[in-house]
Amino acid sequence: MLPDLPFDPGHVLIGGAWRATSAKLPLDNPSTGAPLCEIARGGGAEIDAAIAAAQAARAGDWGRMTAAERGRILLRLSQLVLDNADLLTTLESLDVGKPLAQSRADALALARYCEFYGGAADKLHGQTIPYLDGYTVYTLREPHGVTGHIVPWNYPMQIIGRSVGAALATGNACVLKPAEDACLTALMFAFLAQEAGLPDGALNVVPGLGSEAGAALSAHPGIDHISFTGSVATGSAVQAAAAPNVVPVTLELGGKSPQLVFDDADIDAALPFLVNAGLQNAGQTCSAASRILVQRGVLDEVTQRMAAAYAAKRVGPATGDADIGPLINARQKTRVEGYLARAEGLPLIAAAELPADLPEGGHYVRPSLYGPVPPDHPLAQDEIFGPVQVIIPFDTEAEALAIANGTDYGLVASVWTRDGARQMRLARALRSGQVFLNNYGAGGGVELPFGGTGKSGFGREKGFEALYGFSTLKTVAAFHG
Ligand code: NAD
Repeated sequence: MLPDLPFDPGHVLIGGAWRATSAKLPLDNPSTGAPLCEIARGGGAEIDAAIAAAQAARAGDWGRMTAAERGRILLRLSQLVLDNADLLTTLESLDVGKPLAQSRADALALARYCEFYGGAADKLHGQTIPYLDGYTVYTLREPHGVTGHIVPWNYPMQIIGRSVGAALATGNACVLKPAEDACLTALMFAFLAQEAGLPDGALNVVPGLGSEAGAALSAHPGIDHISFTGSVATGSAVQAAAAPNVVPVTLELGGKSPQLVFDDADIDAALPFLVNAGLQNAGQTCSAASRILVQRGVLDEVTQRMAAAYAAKRVGPATGDADIGPLINARQKTRVEGYLARAEGLPLIAAAELPADLPEGGHYVRPSLYGPVPPDHPLAQDEIFGPVQVIIPFDTEAEALAIANGTDYGLVASVWTRDGARQMRLARALRSGQVFLNNYGAGGGVELPFGGTGKSGFGREKGFEALYGFSTLKTVAAFHG
């Protein structure tokens, strides 16, 4: 059951007004399969209205606000997110099936994004450029205008924080389309943004299906920038839909991220990262470490210790004290089970037990570790988006690099070695948006630019870098003789 909410989850937020939609969608609890509530099924009409409201906000109070004032609103919003972290945590766990500790970390990250971008809002500025005699030339950083944000179900709070936070800091007005499987924290965030004093229309939220609200948003001529996180197929459809309008797009499309473990690595330090970075959020993480590349000298040790860690993992409902919750929905469970069926013939190193008393309607899958797995096997190539990891042995650094770079993706990679020269060589040679040396994820740092290469997408979110993506540059050249 849902706790009492200060908003109606069946509503959209457009131009500061919460409105019911005639069509609704069911929202289920992935831990039990039980219905949670009905949400709005926004479509083309709501997207039209949301974009009009965003344009009006840009032309009105929001567009006239100074960067410092925008920053103060985001800082107030950060505090409100912290004050409401318990409710946000509960909502995310009920909605996404994410264990409470992970949902709480996401709520704190959302607050931190608002704090970071609140503080950064008035620090983004242009430059003066030395030019010909008689000219003064300078650049202005300006918002795109109306930004569209299409968000998936796996990390709603973090992805809203990093994209909407940066877009508001730079003065854009946002239209947010959360995932149909998980939109409660998006609505709560919008409610808190109103409380923080965000002017009407600066943030509009239209839950709905991807094929309806999402498609309408991507193709809309009133949108000036789109930030999309999700699957490769949908990201490419969003890019195609936006192309006739010649709209800049940021795509964050997941990965098949490797951790490279060399013979000289500190295995004690690596072990928790090797396992948890693959199983966090039941593997439904764009930067999940789904490939563990291990040099043969430590292969037995890493294999045995990872197997022991799997055996100790508790699977269960998100609101219990489980390490690993369910998958988001039945479709995702079927997809992951399809990959497990394709694993037939591969050595299964370990599989965490599913307790006998799991709720029957929950979408649970046994976390599974396979190895050795050939680098070209679908389990070692495809983004499975479930609690499945593969171990791939290697002999030399060159072989490890070829395997690591040998997928369509390039989002995150890590290297475990005490050899400093090897760290530097691989940091350069790995085809990846982020490289971690003797760690994985660096604690998720809000400050650290994030994004992919190859089919992991393009554009950078997070950190100060995101402010460049959510703004455009105007060059002013004045001739004064
Ligand atoms: P998806 O990419 O279809 O959905 C992500 C978002 O896009 C949702 O808000 C959805 O409503 C919207 N969307 C769907 N179709 C759209 C369209 N035609 N136009 C505009 N927006 C649209 O992801 P999914 O179907 O929920 O999950 C399928 C697979 O995607 C997963 O198994 C996983 O591999 C991948 N995925 C990746 C990430 C990531 O963070 N990289 C997140 C979610 C899913």
